[in-house]
Amino acid sequence: KQKELFYIKEVFKDAFSVIGKTLENNNINILEEYCSTCQINNFRKELLQVLINILKNAKEVLVQKEIENRYIKIEESSFKDRVIIKISDNAGGIKEELLDKIFEPYFTTKNELEGTGLGLYMSKIIVEKHLLGKLKVYNKEEGACFEITLRKESV
Ligand code: ADP
Ligand code: MG
Repeated sequence: KQKELFYIKEVFKDAFSVIGKTLENNNINILEEYCSTCQINNFRKELLQVLINILKNAKEVLVQKEIENRYIKIEESSFKDRVIIKISDNAGGIKEELLDKIFEPYFTTKNELEGTGLGLYMSKIIVEKHLLGKLKVYNKEEGACFEITLRKESV
């Protein structure tokens, strides 16, 4: 498979070209903080799918709630051989007892027309089995935070 160097920022740009319009229509602000120097080698398409899944989920909880100043925040930090991407929102977070259930296949709190419960299950497989990174979730002050750790060099 052909390798390619890319910036995380470019992959988010691709993701927003897919779902940016619906975020805008729902008054969701995007706060972005990228590293300008850090590049990743390989797995761009796979990462794009994961980002779309996580951003869509954030959008779906945000629109369900009456929240002022809805936002999705993206933070990227660079280390020697890895990069950490955090995607958080202010939709109130996830119940503690559900934090590890959300990665199980078919687990969803949405009705069957809106959710399959496969998005995070597949995202975790992509990040951890294919990209040999880590995908975890925790609650921050205002909402859930999904944290992706990736190697800069492909494996
Ligand atoms: P689906 O979106 O089809 O429900 P996912 O695997 O993408 O399946 O997500 C599983 C569940 O995780 C969702 O139904 C929702 O309850 C929860 N979840 C995902 N992202 C968030 C978030 N940002 N805030 C709160 N709950 C979330
Ligand atoms: Mg989903």
